[in-house]
Amino acid sequence: MEKINKILGKLSFEELKELKETLQKGEAIEAIEESLERFKNSNKVCPVCNTPVGDEGFVLIFGPNGFKKKATFDGTDCLEYFIYNMRK
Ligand SMILES: [Zn+2]
Repeated sequence: MEKINKILGKLSFEELKELKETLQKGEAIEAIEESLERFKNSNKVCPVCNTPVGDEGFVLIFGPNGFKKKATFDGTDCLEYFIYNMRK
């Protein structure tokens, strides 16, 4: 919390208001999760066949707002298989 107070202390009135609205809408978590994804890029694994996937993989973002999940597949066959099983 100490770090957060330090960051908040540097913000203007307008910036604080904007941040508060962003947090209330649940958009901040998504933005943070997206930023965290940048650090995970090197070790993505296809959830269907467990093959390591690089930047050329197929990305699927799914789930309700605020609880979005991201999966990366090595091919469209795995992506189709995953969606097919999600429907059941
Ligand atoms: Zn696969």
